[in-house]
Amino acid sequence: MSDTVSIVFDGPAGVGKSTVAKAVARQLGFTYVDTGAMYRGVTLLALEQGIPIDSRHQQEMLAAIKRADFSFIFSGEELRIFHGSRDITEAVRSREVTGKVSYVAALPEIRQGLTALQRQMARSGNVVMEGRDIGTVVLPDADYKFFLTASPEVRAGRRYKELVAKGMTVDPDTVLADMVKRDQLDSSRQYAPLRKAEDAIEIDTSGLEIDAVVNLVLSHVKELCQESRNDI
Ligand code: C5P
Repeated sequence: MSDTVSIVFDGPAGVGKSTVAKAVARQLGFTYVDTGAMYRGVTLLALEQGIPIDSRHQQEMLAAIKRADFSFIFSGEELRIFHGSRDITEAVRSREVTGKVSYVAALPEIRQGLTALQRQMARSGNVVMEGRDIGTVVLPDADYKFFLTASPEVRAGRRYKELVAKGMTVDPDTVLADMVKRDQLDSSRQYAPLRKAEDAIEIDTSGLEIDAVVNLVLSHVKELCQESRNDI
């Protein structure tokens, strides 16, 4: 049995995983791990260093990750991502990175490298980890598993508002089309596709405010924690 506790969130793009996972981590004092940011970081490096995104160049990408020295630092409510001393938080969310990240995430050796890193993070302390394959592949024995869903229209609407709030000029139909394409790539890839773990609790976040989802998650955690104590 593991000494550390893990709570995992999987689900498609724009479903509210990051906001919910961050809030749960804060309330419980756990470390928040955004695995999507890791895939985005590798994609940024590949684009900047001119490494072609295909299966023949996986070793080059892995070597770039090793050299990269990524770090994740909380600044107030926000998680900032650094490459050495360079803050790449905004750069990893660019349209270019978002458009290519699912191709990088489909490469098996990249997944193996990042999965090992994510497991190491979960072994070294209590974590709330979010992504696409955390409950199925990275931490199949996680203590608490959640799978968040919402219709593509609701998710794209939320993402559109986020982008506009950041001052970006975007077209709502393009946001929806990009999101549907990314989900399709993530769900249909051969290795570790986006999928609900059989033992995950599914929450449809469509009509819910973030606080309501966070409270629902925390009440499930308390309930399951109580049940496992009763089993001892
Ligand atoms: O969570 P976010 O939207 O930032 O993730 C970006 C991309 O990273 C996803 O679309 C997916 O291709 C990839 N990803 C993944 N496995 C994870 C987390 C993210 O394949 N555990």
